Amino acid sequence: MSSVYDKLRRILSLERDQGYRNRAVIGGLARFLAYWAKEAQEEAQHTTPPVSVEQVMAQLEGYAELAPEARSRAVEQILALLGPEVEASSGQQPGAPPVAPPQPAAPQGNHAPAGETPAEAPKAAPPRPKTKAEEQFTLNSPLSSLMGVNKVNQERLARLGLKTIRDLLYHFPRRYDDFSALKTINRLALGDEVTVVGVVQEAKLQHTRSGQALVRVVVYDGTGTIEARWFNQPYLLKRIKEGVEIVLSGRVEEYLGRLVFTSPEWEPLQRELLHTARLVPIYPLTEGLNARWLRRLMKSTLDYWCPRLADPLPGEMLSSLGLMDLGRALAQIHFPENRETLEQARQRLCFDELLLLQLGIQLQRQAWRAEPGPAVPLDHAALEAFIAGLPFQLTNAQRRAIGEILQDMERPVPMSRLLQGDVGSGKTVVAAAAILAAARAGLQAAIMAPTSILAEQHYRTLTRLLAGFPEMRCALLVGSLSAAEKERLHQEIAQGAVQVVVGTHALIQSTVEFARLGLVVVDEQHRFGVEQRGALRAKGDGLRPHLLAMSATPIPRTLAMTFYGDLDLTVLDELPPNRQRVLTAVRDRSSRERIYAFIASQVEQGRQAFIICPLVEESEQLDAKSAVEEYERLQRDIFPRLRLGLLHGRMNADEKDQVMTAFKEGAYDILVSTAVVEVGIDVPNATVILVEGAERFGLAQLHQFRGRVGRGEWKSYCILLSDDPSEESLKRLQVMTETDDGFVLAEKDLELRGPGDFFGVRQSGLPTLKVARLSDLATLEKAREQAQRLLARDPSLSLPEHQALAASVRRFWSAVELS
Ligand code: ADP
Ligand code: MG
Repeated sequence: MSSVYDKLRRILSLERDQGYRNRAVIGGLARFLAYWAKEAQEEAQHTTPPVSVEQVMAQLEGYAELAPEARSRAVEQILALLGPEVEASSGQQPGAPPVAPPQPAAPQGNHAPAGETPAEAPKAAPPRPKTKAEEQFTLNSPLSSLMGVNKVNQERLARLGLKTIRDLLYHFPRRYDDFSALKTINRLALGDEVTVVGVVQEAKLQHTRSGQALVRVVVYDGTGTIEARWFNQPYLLKRIKEGVEIVLSGRVEEYLGRLVFTSPEWEPLQRELLHTARLVPIYPLTEGLNARWLRRLMKSTLDYWCPRLADPLPGEMLSSLGLMDLGRALAQIHFPENRETLEQARQRLCFDELLLLQLGIQLQRQAWRAEPGPAVPLDHAALEAFIAGLPFQLTNAQRRAIGEILQDMERPVPMSRLLQGDVGSGKTVVAAAAILAAARAGLQAAIMAPTSILAEQHYRTLTRLLAGFPEMRCALLVGSLSAAEKERLHQEIAQGAVQVVVGTHALIQSTVEFARLGLVVVDEQHRFGVEQRGALRAKGDGLRPHLLAMSATPIPRTLAMTFYGDLDLTVLDELPPNRQRVLTAVRDRSSRERIYAFIASQVEQGRQAFIICPLVEESEQLDAKSAVEEYERLQRDIFPRLRLGLLHGRMNADEKDQVMTAFKEGAYDILVSTAVVEVGIDVPNATVILVEGAERFGLAQLHQFRGRVGRGEWKSYCILLSDDPSEESLKRLQVMTETDDGFVLAEKDLELRGPGDFFGVRQSGLPTLKVARLSDLATLEKAREQAQRLLARDPSLSLPEHQALAASVRRFWSAVELS
């Protein structure tokens, strides 16, 4: 049977179940029928209805006035004609109750069906006993089960991604128009966005010269009158009648020297105010969806559902955190009573998102650790020999980090650890200690770097650091190897003849197979997506390898726990001694000549320099073009006698490597580069870095640039040049001169630019957040703590009281592919 007649049967059955009290539909059956008839008539054009629309209408006419027996007779007769309920075939919930009062079927139909009496309008869903039917009706039910949502509207809503009732409830306003400022008419001024309340003195229909219908209404509020005008809505006169009190919201305009409203929002005064005199929600819409219609659908759905929602969060969590319950929060985020309740609603919904985020991440981590990992026994003698062979003393932070990592690796549980340390804090040697441990235990280790030049650098460093252990074979696996070389290397790796493999993402290609992969090190971890990390980890056969991720991006701890929440955190919070501070200065264009002279003098002393070109746009191509021009200009006009190199993002990996290697070997005096100049490159002889257009870069990135110098024994300089800096960007750049602490800069960046910029586009792998902001560290921290607490009690969220929460987590994460 058609859904229209299904709906009718549902309503009538409910009416019967409730004892014919004309309560099955909020506002009475008549309201439902007026709108139902329209829908049924549309449908009657292509299907044969079981009962004619006319017959239904005739039978139920004047239902409100009928005596109970007469009501019962009328309903029974129609139900009999409709026949017994068949299994739902349309995917619609059979027996779903009417959760919404009738809505105008078509968006343009702002006029309510005849017979609507505002006094009967819903305040909230009337309390009534739960019926069986109701229990089958859930938040997952399709929107077509709502009154007033026909096929056309259903499709329109689907275009907004709204398919279920839950989707609708979580379709939050984009913003709110504040019409809550009531004014008397005598105080109105041109341009005001206001709400006035008054009685209709005069209401008439006219036609403009072009034939448009014009409804003109004069409203009086005791202090004065104002005219409201609507074009092409003649039916408004059916509702806006003389003597009716109405509320108008809109912008005060002028017409022929008088103040008027043109097409203001309006509603009868008695109704609960949806569209006026409050913070009015403004929703993202799509073509054909009418704002007013959506607002009413939303309101009636909220009215029904909010009081009935079971809060998935435990009551004691809510009360200890002072959070609003879910039903109220949803009601308030859509139709806030005031700014405070709106803020509280937001807080609650933010917390929800961050909690689900945390639960997902922590569950993921648990799942990872559920599989066994290779236990690596601590080889004290080898470790001592390794440390003794180093050309320097480890810092305390390095010792602590090595200790934590080796302790993790001793257990038969796969390690997941993030080693975070500022540029130059000495992460490589820590990784080397872990690699040594793995290799001594007969396992293989792999290091993955984001570029081949970095891979090469690691390869050289590791071969040097592990020189005291000649039985360990290291190999470099990068894209530039010949096919034959690669083939041979793949074989050796598969046979276990090579213990340490250093490489780029070539390492995670499926053709690379390891004999006994026991440790994976990912350097500059933020450059890899969650998936890549996962892919390399998955290469352990049988056992899951330990994972050590390293990052120089000094992100605040709380944020790290979100982005890398599946990882334990070790921080190298100490730089090796005698690291010199890089002298940092902020300059404008008036200093350019002097800066060039300074660079030339450094080169004269045998040093090298970086010049970073301004960021043109989010386009590597334009960046590259301007870098080429700048390079040519500098070579020709400024430094004709010096050797300049050029590096930009449009060069392929080999070309980049060649240039970087040449620079490192001293073949160039100055390297002109775009922002691609890779982090982690060690050129101890470079002492100056000039950053052009410095205001365009984030502080964290400037900090990385600065880390390119000061790596040798000479005094080094970072010059931040901004042609025409604004007050604000000057202030921001000034922070660079005040601190060397990457963490402080990162916090500052986060505060000033938000996490989006902070991580760039690479950082995906997290669900989309609707209300929460990752910069809301306080909530983030709370959510993390609560997630831990919950999982400590119920590690897989399988207790009955956590079922709803577990389902929420699954839903929240379902859009994201987990590694
Ligand atoms: P990052 O953490 O940026 O990757 P590296 O591991 O590349 O840092 O180390 C930077 C430089 O510091 C290297 O030249 C390395 O040899 C040196 N280094 C590392 N640890 C120490 C230490 N404890 N004392 C002195 N120099 C160190
Ligand atoms: Mg490094």
